[in-house]
Formats: sequence, C-alpha cells, structure tokens
Amino acid sequence: MRGYCVSAIQSIKCPHCRKEASLTDNPYRPFCSKRCKMIDLGTWADEGYRIPGERAPEADDEDEDE
Ligand SMILES: [Zn+2]
Repeated sequence: MRGYCVSAIQSIKCPHCRKEASLTDNPYRPFCSKRCKMIDLGTWADEGYRIPGERAPEADDEDEDE
C-alpha cells in the first residue's frame, strides 16, 4: 500500500471511452491507453491498430506492449 492520498485528482475519465484513466505514470493522458489516444487522434490506422468497435473486454488492458 502506498501512503499518498488516492482521493487526490489522479485519475479522470478517458475522453474517448470514458474509462477511468490515470494521470500519473500515464504517457497517454488524458486518455486511458495508447489505443484511445491513437483512435482519438485519428492515427490508429497508421499504427495498424484494431478496427474501432472491436473492443477489448472489461479488463485492465492498457496496451502495455511497448
Ligand atoms: Zn479510453
């Protein structure tokens, strides 16, 4: 358990999928993941990302493949 107050504003709703997104240790903020950021920027196609609509299950998959 870490000691800091988790009630501080350290997470927001992802502008794309409304999932909770961390503001700390999150290079893709304010998005929840690289996928949402890419999709929102319209560059997902360039990255060879999955088609929109093919949503991942409700797992905490943050696409940490990089
Ligand atoms: Zn998202």
